[in-house]
Amino acid sequence: MTYQKEMDRVCGMWIEKSTTPFTSQYHGETYYFCAKECKEQFDQNPEYYMKGFEGRKP
Ligand SMILES: [Zn+2]
Repeated sequence: MTYQKEMDRVCGMWIEKSTTPFTSQYHGETYYFCAKECKEQFDQNPEYYMKGFEGRKP
């Protein structure tokens, strides 16, 4: 069996795609989150989270 995992871009957790109800659409892509709070944070500022952890200012 193969698992499809996506990173929760807000908190960095790996998410099993089929098990999370928390998803967002952005620029035609689907993003997955571990919790409603993470999804809401992404929705408020998607550009910030699109940069990934490396591109963020401390
Ligand atoms: Zn999360």
